[in-house]
Amino acid sequence: MDEIDCAVIGAGVVGLAVASALAQRGREVVVLEAEGAIGTGTSSRNSEVIHAGIYYPKDSLKARLCVEGRGLLYAYLQERGLPHRRCGKLIVATDEAQVAQLEAIAARARANGVDDLATLDRDAARALEPQLECLAALHSPSTGIVDSHSLMLSLQGDLEREGGVVALKSGVAGARCEDDAIVLSMQDGTDLRCRAVVNAAGLGAPSLAARFGGLPAAAVPTAHYAKGNYFVLAGRAPFSRLIYPVPEAAGLGVHLTLDLGGQAKFGPDVQWVASPDDLVVDPDRGEAFYAEVRRYWPGLPDGALLPGYAGIRPKISGPREPAADFVIQGPAVHGVAGLVNLFGIESPGLTSSLAIGRRVADLLSD
Ligand SMILES: Cc1cc2nc3c(=O)[nH]c(=O)nc-3n(C[C@H](O)[C@H](O)[C@H](O)COP(=O)(O)OP(=O)(O)OC[C@H]3O[C@@H](n4cnc5c(N)ncnc54)[C@H](O)[C@@H]3O)c2cc1C
Repeated sequence: MDEIDCAVIGAGVVGLAVASALAQRGREVVVLEAEGAIGTGTSSRNSEVIHAGIYYPKDSLKARLCVEGRGLLYAYLQERGLPHRRCGKLIVATDEAQVAQLEAIAARARANGVDDLATLDRDAARALEPQLECLAALHSPSTGIVDSHSLMLSLQGDLEREGGVVALKSGVAGARCEDDAIVLSMQDGTDLRCRAVVNAAGLGAPSLAARFGGLPAAAVPTAHYAKGNYFVLAGRAPFSRLIYPVPEAAGLGVHLTLDLGGQAKFGPDVQWVASPDDLVVDPDRGEAFYAEVRRYWPGLPDGALLPGYAGIRPKISGPREPAADFVIQGPAVHGVAGLVNLFGIESPGLTSSLAIGRRVADLLSD
C-alpha cells in the first residue's frame, strides 16, 4: 500500500492553500483531486471578491479568518504580482428601513476590526458613482477583486516548489480511521495510508466524511445547497466600484461585481436546490434581477442581462436556520488523530483561504 505524510482532498482554493501551508512547514503533501483540473468546483463559480469582513458575527471564524485572510491575500497578491484590484465597494440603502440597517452593518464591521468604512449621503455616493440611486451608502475601500485562477495556479506552484504534488483524477471514495493512520480508499480501488488527512472536498465534504469509518456520525453535518445564479451585463457598466444592496437572509443580495477585464455581472441570488450538480441558470430568473438591480441602478436597460453561470454555496444550515459559521474540525472535536474536516466553507472562503491554510497547518502541528 502507498504511504504519504499528508493528503489534502480537493484542489479548490482552500485545499490548495492548506496544502501549500503544510508543505511550507516541511510536510510531505499530496492533493487528491477527483476532476481533471484544479479549481473546477465552487472556487471557479463565485464573485471573486476580496471581502473586507463586514457582515459576519463578531468573533465568528468567518469574521476572524476573513479579516486575517484579506490581509494575507493582498500581501500575497502584491508580492507575487498576481492580478487583483482594490476597487472598493458601496453598500447602498434604497429605503428608510435600510438606512437604519446601514448603521448596524457599520457597527458590526467595527466590532470585526474593519475600521475604514465611511458613511455617505446620497450626494456623496453619487459623486463617486453618478448612475447610482440610493438614500445613503457605506463605502468600503478595502474590498477588492482577484483573479481566482491565477491565485490557485500560484498556490499549486508554491506547493510543488516545496516538493508537494497535485494528483488529478484521483477521487477519494471513503476511508478507514485506524489508531496510527487514516487509510483512504481511492475511487480506482487502491488504498493510500496517511498520517494526516484534510477533507477540503467543498460541496462533497460532508458526504465524504460520512464514508470515513471510525469518524463519529455526530461529527458530520447535514449538507444543504444554496445555488447562486449570475446574470452578466451586455455592454460596459457605468460603475467602477462594486455595488451591494443591504444583505438578505442567505446571501449578500443581488450585487454588481466587476471582473478584472471590466465585465460586470449581477448576482448571486439564492435558490435552494437538492443536488450539488444543479448548475444550470434558468433564464426566467432574470426577471427578478431587473427589479432588484433597478432599485440602485434605475438606468439598467431592458434586455441587458444575459444568463451567466451559477455556483452552489456549501451550506451546513438549512433555509430556515441561522447561517452557520465555518467549521474547521480537528481531533479535539471528533477524536480521530490526524484528521481535519472543513465544512461549510462558503463565502468568504476565497478571501479567507490563506488564513484557513494557516489554521489547519497549526492544528496538524499540535
Ligand atoms: C455563488 C458564490 C459566490 C461566492 N463569492 C465569493 C466571493 O466573492 N468571495 C469569497 O471570499 N468567497 C466567495 N464564495 C466562497 C468561495 O467560492 C468558497 O468558499 C471557496 O471557493 C471554497 O473552496 P474549496 O476549495 O473549499 O471548495 P471547492 O472549490 O468546491 O473545491 C473542492 C474540490 O474538491 C474536489 N472533490 C470533491 N469531492 C472529492 C473527492 N471525493 N475526492 C477528491 N476530490 C474531491 C472537487 O472536485 C473540488 O475541486 C462564493 C461562493 C459561492 C457559491
